[in-house]
Amino acid sequence: MLQPRLERIENAKWVSLIEEYESLPSTNSFARQRVEDGALPGTVIWARHQTAGRGRLSRTWLSDTNSLTLSVIWRFSAAKAVPGLSLAAGLWTAKALETLGVKAKVKWPNDVWIGSRKVAGLLGESVYRDDHWWVIMGAGINVNGRSLLPDTAVTLQECLGSPLSRRDVLLIVLKAWDAGLDSHLRYPLDFDSEFQQYGNFLGCTVRVVQGSEAFSGKALSVRPSGALVVETSCGLREVLSDDVSLRQESLADDDKTR
Ligand code: ATP
Repeated sequence: MLQPRLERIENAKWVSLIEEYESLPSTNSFARQRVEDGALPGTVIWARHQTAGRGRLSRTWLSDTNSLTLSVIWRFSAAKAVPGLSLAAGLWTAKALETLGVKAKVKWPNDVWIGSRKVAGLLGESVYRDDHWWVIMGAGINVNGRSLLPDTAVTLQECLGSPLSRRDVLLIVLKAWDAGLDSHLRYPLDFDSEFQQYGNFLGCTVRVVQGSEAFSGKALSVRPSGALVVETSCGLREVLSDDVSLRQESLADDDKTR
């Protein structure tokens, strides 16, 4: 039987209780199970070691005991609260990491990069249950040690020069998500201006990969829906985040620290 260590979070509206597990295959999958079992909204699943992490589009998220892997359970009565949350969470995460001293940027839709390498990935999933929309927002953040994918990923320690407490990073991220969600539900984020500031792809040449198809163009703006507008040789195209990946052919900048 998995016995988590429990920690209550004070002064927050959207995160209330951390369930800390020594090891889980996937925090998102486990959180989904916890929703079925009747977990309260605001429950945070934290695995000290995630052994079978998932990314978008059935990809794998690699982590070890230097990584921070978490999923938060949210519940909404209206479906309109759900779209856009994955993009918003990427922006909140980048801003949270920035407070640690790194220059974090978001690659649409929600990968967090430092310079030309990925430091964190987000995975938002939703399920309709008991007349409510439940959202599971997961994040994997490379905190300490050497990156598991040295060519494409980076850890916070590699950027800052010294290790961090994973629990401290967890609390910083949860605080940012709590405040971010509270504000976003009242005044939805202006994705275009947020990505102009925190994105690393607008104005760059990107390659949009959708299954076996791909096209290149210049990333122009982000719609309120979260869709990306790309200028191609055949005109403007809008892409939704659900089933596409973005590859950068040119990067906005390569700084690592603020
Ligand atoms: P992309 O937009 O780059 O196509 P994605 O957003 O679709 O990626 P994610 O679900 O965010 O993909 O993450 C999965 C991908 O991230 C993997 O396919 C792998 O390339 C990369 N990856 C896996 N583990 C890590 C990690 N710890 N740090 C950085 N990148 C990772």
